[in-house]
Amino acid sequence: MIAPGGTIGIVGGGQLGRMLCQAASQLGYKTHVYAPDPAPPASAVASLYICADYDNGDALADFAAGCDVVTYEFENVPAAPLDAMGDKLRPGTRSLAVAQDRAHEKAFIEEQGGRVATWHRIDAVEDLAAAAEVCGLPLVIKSRRLGYDGKGQAWVRDMDHLEEAWDAIGREPAIAEAAVDFKAEFSVLVARRADDEMRVWNAPRNIHDGGILRRSEVPAGAPVDGMVDDAVMIACRLASAMGHIGVMAVEFFATSDGPLVNEIAPRVHNSGHWTIEGALTSQFEQHLRCICDLPLGDSGLVAPRVTMDNLIGADVEQWEKLLGEAGAHLHLYGKREARPGRKMGHVTRLG
Ligand code: AMP
Repeated sequence: MIAPGGTIGIVGGGQLGRMLCQAASQLGYKTHVYAPDPAPPASAVASLYICADYDNGDALADFAAGCDVVTYEFENVPAAPLDAMGDKLRPGTRSLAVAQDRAHEKAFIEEQGGRVATWHRIDAVEDLAAAAEVCGLPLVIKSRRLGYDGKGQAWVRDMDHLEEAWDAIGREPAIAEAAVDFKAEFSVLVARRADDEMRVWNAPRNIHDGGILRRSEVPAGAPVDGMVDDAVMIACRLASAMGHIGVMAVEFFATSDGPLVNEIAPRVHNSGHWTIEGALTSQFEQHLRCICDLPLGDSGLVAPRVTMDNLIGADVEQWEKLLGEAGAHLHLYGKREARPGRKMGHVTRLG
């Protein structure tokens, strides 16, 4: 067990790292953050900030030496230098390896009995026609690595534009995925300790726009509520099979045939931000409890209804109005420039 007073290392310096630092500070831990940017959101609230590249093995080894446990808030980090941290890294690199490559991820989910959209691997131009045959049209081409928030994705509606779509994502190794006819999107957040004890929160319904999460709401309502038990079973099976330690999110499509897994995020997740005010234990605190081997907290709701809205780009200009709204819990990530599509903060409302 790593008792309060210990030092938690976080690889990645974004808002997820920032909120992990805030939860760690509440529990009396020190935080060391490692990221390649000069002043990322987490650096302003960490006890120590190390600015170095993710592939700098020596700098990462020094960083790990100063921490009792190291975790990550960003999955697109090269796994090899983290491997050297051994058991100090929680979750381990197996979780990264599964989530970093969409083809591995799909195969892994299917092995564990989860349903995914019909998909096909694209490594060469010849694979495009086969992908259209397998998946039908429309389909979406997604780069296998380094995709997030709808980045590295291109939709194809007719055969003439197949190659153009692959070009649009840089002719990278990719997968093609059939368009899923879903009724809603939702996610299951699982917290798992090394001894396989797990907790889940109420599954939020997630509303996306342009591939970016806009809003999460709990309860998710029909038809999600009727398929949550199945989804939780799959999510817990995936967490156990990965040997995942900490919080992870499994994103689902609610289809007329039940839950279909879209993707796994091996870390705390935007669709869990509502848990800071809306649950008895937040995803950030629960993650720390998992990686430090502390007893897990109750993940129950504190209000019958909770909504979380992301403040994206210019949305952040509403901050003053939101401060004046009774019961609106405003979180700002301290990012200077409000570029379009950039997550600047979020607001949670209970009741
Ligand atoms: P992803 O980055 O894979 O999570 O995709 C971002 C968003 O794009 C998802 O949350 C969905 O709203 C949409 N999307 C992704 N894949 C598909 C698909 N196969 N069919 C329909 N919509 C999709």
